[in-house]
Amino acid sequence: MRLVTYLHHGMTGVGLTDAGATRIRPLDQVDGTPISDMLMLIREGIATATPSVMRPTLTWAEVALLPPIQRPPRDLICVGKNYRKHAHEFADSGFDTDNGPAVPEHPVVFSKSAGAVIGAGESIVYPEGLSDALDYEAELAVVIGRSGRRIPRAQAFSHVFGYTIVNDVTARDWQQRHGQWFLGKSFDTFCPIGPVLVTADELDPSALAICCWVNGELRQNANTRDLIFDIPTLIETISAGMTLQPGDIIATGTPAGVGAGFKPPRFLRRGDEVAIEIEGIGRLVNDVF
Ligand code: MG
Repeated sequence: MRLVTYLHHGMTGVGLTDAGATRIRPLDQVDGTPISDMLMLIREGIATATPSVMRPTLTWAEVALLPPIQRPPRDLICVGKNYRKHAHEFADSGFDTDNGPAVPEHPVVFSKSAGAVIGAGESIVYPEGLSDALDYEAELAVVIGRSGRRIPRAQAFSHVFGYTIVNDVTARDWQQRHGQWFLGKSFDTFCPIGPVLVTADELDPSALAICCWVNGELRQNANTRDLIFDIPTLIETISAGMTLQPGDIIATGTPAGVGAGFKPPRFLRRGDEVAIEIEGIGRLVNDVF
């Protein structure tokens, strides 16, 4: 299923959408109660939802799309340097404070504030007076459906609810200056996500094209088959000591082509538009305001 969370006449709803991203069928619980919270749907299971017979089908044009999970239950779990070419461009950029090898031997895991989440079409607020090194990072995100600890690789996918798109927006100067990455990646509006969440039964995430354009210029053009640490490895590693919970979001890392990787760097400016596409999921577009 291709799921979205949307706002229509002041009411939040969860619905099914088509691959062409044109129409939305509202979802109800089996007793006819409208579903308004993706997190509840994830916790209770997709089998508890049914297309509404009472409410009409909507078009994308008549709703505002919201983050698929409006308020993630906790901060996003993010993976750094998970594509070889990007690991090298970041090591060469001067913004990496890590003295270790450019390509990590173990997954680099950090967090990003859930409070930074915004939806498709919302603006990334330019951090005027704070940063002049605003950057984009296109990423495939994994949404956890079933809780688990010490999840072995072979069972990893049985804990996945689905997949969506994240733009891991970063203030590079803050990332560098403050040593730990959390602050520079957690400014308000620094986490565009969605708009579509594709359930795991409908998508094999192992070889998906992932692209990012700034003002229509292709900057990132890669494939998830080039992840250094694949999704089962990430789930096994992260869950080894920490219980993964329904609604947890794992951003799997960005490929080469970020602004910091250019010489000189090509950071975002006010008025820019960032568009990310992942094959089989959809397109996430946000402007910088
Ligand atoms: Mg990232």
